[in-house]
Amino acid sequence: MKKLFYLLFVLLICRPVFAFDVVYPHKQNVTINSPSTFFIGSSNPKETLTVNGASVTVHPSGGFAYVVVLEEGENKFVLQSGNELKTFIINRPKKVTGGVYVPPKLIEYEARRKFLTSVDNAPLRTTPVDAGINRMSHFQEDIPLIIDGEKSNFYRVVLGENKKAWISKTNVKAFEGYLNSPAEVKSYETIEDNDYFKFIFHLDKKTPFEIIEGETFYLKFYNVKDCPDNTYVFSFPYSESSGTQKIIGYSGFYDGDDFVFKIRKFPAIEKKHPLKNITIAVDAGHGGRESGAIGCCGDKEKDITLAISKELEQELKARGAKVVMTRKDDSYVGLRERVDIANENDAMFLISIHGNSLPDSADPNKHRGTSIYFYYNQAKLLAANVLVSMNKQLGTQNDNIRQGSLALVRNTNALSILIEVAYLINPEDNAMLIDPKFRKKCAKAIADGIKNYLLN
Ligand SMILES: [Zn+2]
Repeated sequence: MKKLFYLLFVLLICRPVFAFDVVYPHKQNVTINSPSTFFIGSSNPKETLTVNGASVTVHPSGGFAYVVVLEEGENKFVLQSGNELKTFIINRPKKVTGGVYVPPKLIEYEARRKFLTSVDNAPLRTTPVDAGINRMSHFQEDIPLIIDGEKSNFYRVVLGENKKAWISKTNVKAFEGYLNSPAEVKSYETIEDNDYFKFIFHLDKKTPFEIIEGETFYLKFYNVKDCPDNTYVFSFPYSESSGTQKIIGYSGFYDGDDFVFKIRKFPAIEKKHPLKNITIAVDAGHGGRESGAIGCCGDKEKDITLAISKELEQELKARGAKVVMTRKDDSYVGLRERVDIANENDAMFLISIHGNSLPDSADPNKHRGTSIYFYYNQAKLLAANVLVSMNKQLGTQNDNIRQGSLALVRNTNALSILIEVAYLINPEDNAMLIDPKFRKKCAKAIADGIKNYLLN
């Protein structure tokens, strides 16, 4: 009898509970400005689920995603699972007619102006837009700039008679200094140690710079005297010197008026233990007050990313790597802070873990798989290796490697990639993400991807 009670107890406890829950839209009365949106949630797969009478497929895990068209004005949706009803009112704002879009105009100044960068990590861009792959450099505070015009929220920066760039107006302050005299590169030293090719340039004052990565690296200083078009060009035959085409991190920064340029050497790899002594920063996306996306069954992205990251930490440590975690618990860590943690620990790889979601206008049932973001070309081969390994070992669909301007991948010191493991709002992908066995396999697949990158 006791045994029977125990069995009944176990059965009751272990039976999956399929609460009827809608995780998106977040509220039952919302405004969504899109021609369509979707309901994401969970329901007992044995019950019939309908939206305004139309039946909805429910995944065996309980998750569902269902797209609805939105008319302008008020849209009413009744969701029914068994006897339970939930009513949603979604307001789609009416299109505002009239008002002609006027594109921003370029204003060219009659006299050039002088500015200094006013923040650290100020991006210098090839176009006056805060988006896309248009970053040439990131400047520290107090770099003098010559400005000859403006367009919308950007100033145009003079780098030479034929070379211009753009900087956000919020990243500079006016400056009445020595700009009429260009900078001078007096000399440079080469310092090579076990880990880095290092060059120190002695300048008489700070000046804008650009680093172009490749088989040959180019470092350019702009507004420099006695140089063609005021541009000083230093080149370094990286591939020839290091014996590999794989670039594995570099940086350039001012230390006073000296400029330090470091290129990491490709490490000596032990064939049997390729990750031994390699420093890898693992970044669990989101955390604390920032939940990230919510999966069909109510799981939060921040918890899924932390669980996968902890598995990855264990896997990498077991292979002899030194692992740095940007967060170890459910705490909020800023984006810049995460990159700083990786750099302070001199990480060679920065792996950021995320789960994917979609905007209202997309269909979550039509998007599945793993995608990996990189920004700098040096990280493209790593992204490709990790993606192949994940698709193969996890059976996730190939959702491609993508060059994207995300804070965690705009770091040159380490090979930085951001992995969207799978889609939280796709019921089939979500069922994988909430499975602890999948998370463990995921860690192994990522570690193998890094291994393959190092070995091949
Ligand atoms: Zn995310």
